[in-house]
Amino acid sequence: MAFDRDGTLIAEKNYLADPAQIELLPGAREAVDRLRAAGYGLIVVTNQSGVGRGYFGMDAVLAMNQRLEELLGSFDGIYVCPHAPADECDCRKPKPGLLQQASEELGFVASDCVVIGDKDVDVGLAHNAGAKGVLVTTGYGAGHLAAGRVRPDFVAGDLLTAAQWVLTQQSPARTTE
Ligand SMILES: [Mg+2]
Ligand SMILES: [Zn+2]
Repeated sequence: MAFDRDGTLIAEKNYLADPAQIELLPGAREAVDRLRAAGYGLIVVTNQSGVGRGYFGMDAVLAMNQRLEELLGSFDGIYVCPHAPADECDCRKPKPGLLQQASEELGFVASDCVVIGDKDVDVGLAHNAGAKGVLVTTGYGAGHLAAGRVRPDFVAGDLLTAAQWVLTQQSPARTTE
């Protein structure tokens, strides 16, 4: 299971880099807990172009990660693209680089994963990796859906609904120890 961060787990706040400003979205904790309890490996895959644009440093991103795990429990990995679009890296969503890296490091099959996010790039990441993509209508989700920018496998009003869909779809992909 791969989650987007902003607009999916936590409230979308433009270029958020202050851990004190993190606000969990409704249902996020329960969704993460349920998936974790069901045996899913859980990762976060997030574009943080604020680093590449010079708005904040990786230290701020790491502090955000730490606070995120205080609020939601540990993830198996938090994967960050720090690049700006102009960098043309291989890891900025919707490119599948970070998910492929995670699958190699953690020992899962990327196409077995479900990606949950609020943007076209999150669903794009899923499909570029041969995985399923769930759009949550929090964050930018409702706007991207209304604009026809996204063709998700499922649309959920919140993360808990997304998690419940995942739980009815498939059994957890096991990670290798
Ligand atoms: Mg997002
Ligand atoms: Zn990148």
